[in-house]
Amino acid sequence: MSKVLGIDIGGTSIKVGMFSTEGTLEAVTKIPTGEITSEAAFAVVTEGLKALLAENGATPEEVIAIGLDVPGPVDDDGKVGMLANIELDPEGLQAAIKRTFANANLAFVNDANAAALGELWQGTAKGANSFVLIAIGTGVGGGVVANGKLISGAFGAGGEIGHVTVNRDETDACGCGRKGCLEQYASATGIVRSYKRECKRLGIEPVALDGPTDTLSIFNAYRAGDEAAKAALLTMSDYLGYAMAQISVVVDPQIYLIGGGVGGGFKAYAEDLRAAFRKYCLAPSVATRILPASLGNDAAMYGCAYEALLEREA
Ligand SMILES: [Zn+2]
Repeated sequence: MSKVLGIDIGGTSIKVGMFSTEGTLEAVTKIPTGEITSEAAFAVVTEGLKALLAENGATPEEVIAIGLDVPGPVDDDGKVGMLANIELDPEGLQAAIKRTFANANLAFVNDANAAALGELWQGTAKGANSFVLIAIGTGVGGGVVANGKLISGAFGAGGEIGHVTVNRDETDACGCGRKGCLEQYASATGIVRSYKRECKRLGIEPVALDGPTDTLSIFNAYRAGDEAAKAALLTMSDYLGYAMAQISVVVDPQIYLIGGGVGGGFKAYAEDLRAAFRKYCLAPSVATRILPASLGNDAAMYGCAYEALLEREA
C-alpha cells in the first residue's frame, strides 16, 4: 500500500506522520535531532523514518511522497530561504532522504502554508476552494489557498500575514525590522504586550504571567472579568479584523481559519473579531466565514505530506 510521510521539522526534534494516500494518519513518531547539518544527523532522520515504517508493516519502497515543513520561507519552486530559528541543511537532508526513498517525491513547505494545506486535506477547510489560515502563536503566520492552490509567491513572502502593516504610527519595531505589523498586536507576544499596556492605563495590577507569550493566563483573566484582558483581546480582534479586510480585497476567500496556539482561545474573541472584520471589509466580502482551525499542532504535518502528494500527481 502506498504511503505518504509528513515531517514537521522543529528546533530539537522532528515529528513524523505516516499517512495513507487518502489522508488517514496511521502512525506518528518523534525523532530527537538537534542540528540537521551533517551526514550523521541526516542518517538519524532516515533511520528514524525507516523504523517508523517497519513498526507499522510498511517499507521505504511503498513511500511515494514525503513532505517537510520548515519554519521559514519556501518559494514556489520549493527552494528553502533563510531559516532563523533552526539549524538545517535542506539540500543535504533532501539528498539523504532521496537516497533512502527512491520512489518518493520530496517537497519543502513553509510551516504556516503547510498548516493551511493540512486543513484543506483533512481539517475545517476540507472541500473549500479558497480560504486563508491565520496561525496565531508566538508570531502570526498565514497560508493562502486560492482556487484550491497554495499561494506562496515569487519570493516566498506570500501569506506572511503577520507583517501586514496595520498601524503606521507605531514606534516599536517588529521582528522583521518594520513598524506597525499585525504580529505586534495579534500574536501571543503582542497580546501580552497590549495587556500590560492596558493594565498600566487602567491602573490594574496584572495577573501573574508565565513569560512573554503566556496568553493562557490572559484568557483566564478575561473569563474572570479582567478589564485589561478584555481590552487586549479587543485590540487584537480589531487589528486582526482590519488586516483580514485588506486581505479580502486581494484574495476574497470563502473562509478565514484561525489556528495556532492562540487559536485555541477562539471563543473568547470570535464575536469581536467577526464584528471588526464586518466593520472594515468591502461590502461583497461581508459573508466571509471566520472559523477555528481543527487540526491543532498536527496541521503542518498533514499539509506538507499533502503537498508532496499533490506535486507527485501533477
Ligand atoms: Zn513585521
